[in-house]
Amino acid sequence: MLTINGIGAAPGIAIGRALVSARSSSEIPTYGISAADVDREYVRFQRAVREAQQDLHSVAARLTDLSRLDAELLESHRIMLEDPELANQVQAGLNERLCNVEQVVVLVIEELIQKLDGVADDYIRDRVADLQDVRRRLLERLLARPGLTAVRSDAPAVLVCHNILPTDALDLSQRGFIAVATDVGGQSSHLAIVARALELPAVVGLSSVSREVHGGDMVIVDGNDGVVVVDPSPDTKAEYDARLRRWQKREMVLLGGRAAPARTIDGTVIALQANIEFAGEVKAALGHGAEGVGLFRSEFLFLQGAERGTGGGPPESEQYDAYRSVLTAMGDRPVTIRTIDIGGDKVTPEFDVLDESNPILGFRAIRLCHAHPEVFKRQLRALYRAAPFGKLRIMFPMISSVDELDTTLDLVAEVREELAAEGHDVPTVPLGAMIEVPAAAICADLLAPKLDFFSIGTNDLLQYTAAVDRDNDRVAYLYRPLQPAILRLLRNVSRAAREAGVGLSLCGELARDPGAVAVLAGLGIRELSMAAIGIPDVKEAIGRFTLGAAEELVQELLELSHTADIERTVRDWAEQLTTRET
Ligand code: PEP
Ligand code: MG
Repeated sequence: MLTINGIGAAPGIAIGRALVSARSSSEIPTYGISAADVDREYVRFQRAVREAQQDLHSVAARLTDLSRLDAELLESHRIMLEDPELANQVQAGLNERLCNVEQVVVLVIEELIQKLDGVADDYIRDRVADLQDVRRRLLERLLARPGLTAVRSDAPAVLVCHNILPTDALDLSQRGFIAVATDVGGQSSHLAIVARALELPAVVGLSSVSREVHGGDMVIVDGNDGVVVVDPSPDTKAEYDARLRRWQKREMVLLGGRAAPARTIDGTVIALQANIEFAGEVKAALGHGAEGVGLFRSEFLFLQGAERGTGGGPPESEQYDAYRSVLTAMGDRPVTIRTIDIGGDKVTPEFDVLDESNPILGFRAIRLCHAHPEVFKRQLRALYRAAPFGKLRIMFPMISSVDELDTTLDLVAEVREELAAEGHDVPTVPLGAMIEVPAAAICADLLAPKLDFFSIGTNDLLQYTAAVDRDNDRVAYLYRPLQPAILRLLRNVSRAAREAGVGLSLCGELARDPGAVAVLAGLGIRELSMAAIGIPDVKEAIGRFTLGAAEELVQELLELSHTADIERTVRDWAEQLTTRET
């Protein structure tokens, strides 16, 4: 039996056999795929070819005194990448072997190398080195964005892997997985967000779980405590079976209170809404008692269909259908749809966001929309056209200055005028900004008069304020939202919203922390949006304190200068409440 500690990324407990996307000694993952997934793997190959070609292009552009020989070499690599024969063999290899494309690329190029190796000609033998280089370049591209798009299991299984892109995780439950365990990742990485949306227990940041677990091993994934147990002893297995039953029972009890609003003891109502990534999540949101959708991460709509290659995301009609279906399903409850936040770790070959040395600080979200106004305006058109079907609010991600907000609002005005000129009914839709860049939190008083609401995105706000990569498990010990800098920024944003009379919500992962909810209430936040699965726990926590006590707690916290003291004070405070109750 082996117990590995990581970061609990999505709650719940699952027990099952592992399907490991292993990395062999040469670091090439290997797993089987079904015939239905051959096309998807082939698209990954095509994408890697495109990216490898871009790499060659950038190398050529960087070498100003490029010698003729170097130029010829780069050109020969480019030709090899473009060779239809290579593409045909990869396609045939996928069909025959039914395994992931990294393996097929290795095998196909190895066969080509072996054929050439036997030839007694220096020129031909040099091509072997070229092929090795091309293989390395393709694999680098494939492995940089590990494609577990196609991995699936016939029996319910736990997926154990080094890393998985959020976009590849979108349909994990439909592909037979009941839980996920990864080497890398953090509490608010987008994989964690997707796992919570799918209600798949997940533990991330396990360092080398993909090496320590073997396919078929019995594995327990405890997303509540961030623990993975491999090959459990009969006693441990029995203990976790019992824990699983208790967890399921508690969930049922909490879900029983879903119709009641969340109220503090003295009657202050805190609206609890759901964060969703796909239109299909609305049912689960309502099932968990969501009083609205506080954040619809619309970029997932774009990422899901990214392989269609139409450029610029889904057509207006497809977006309109998705927005309309969410609005209709939510009835008279508010639905906040965030315009696309593509870039960072949410990449798609459709946009030029692939080759940045620091994508999190780069061409992302509203910046990308300003550079591609046609894409942004298409989304806005679809949103305004869908607006009459419900209670829509539109929100812009990563606003970092008044200038950026002005440009955004100008584009909104253009779209409204165009729609009106076409004879559409153009309703007034509340407009808001995510407050997730420190500059926006500091200048909240300047942004507020131009908007109807703010929604604080603590995931990025913390990442940028404390300079801690939210995806990096090695610095996860620094990713602590209850720290003096964040409390001060939240206080500032709350004050600016109150003074300007604009709405204030919080949709970062902090909203889902029952221990932190009193702090947020005490700071004046009356609307929280979170993964639906977290709503029942947060509602229960709200029912345990009075607003006055929460405000006093915040005053006390703002006097403290160490994160550990703040965390301890919040923990002790919450424990006192529980003890008083029992
Ligand atoms: C945030 O940054 O807190 C947020 C809610 O947005 P996302 O997690 O999608 O970056
Ligand atoms: Mg964000």
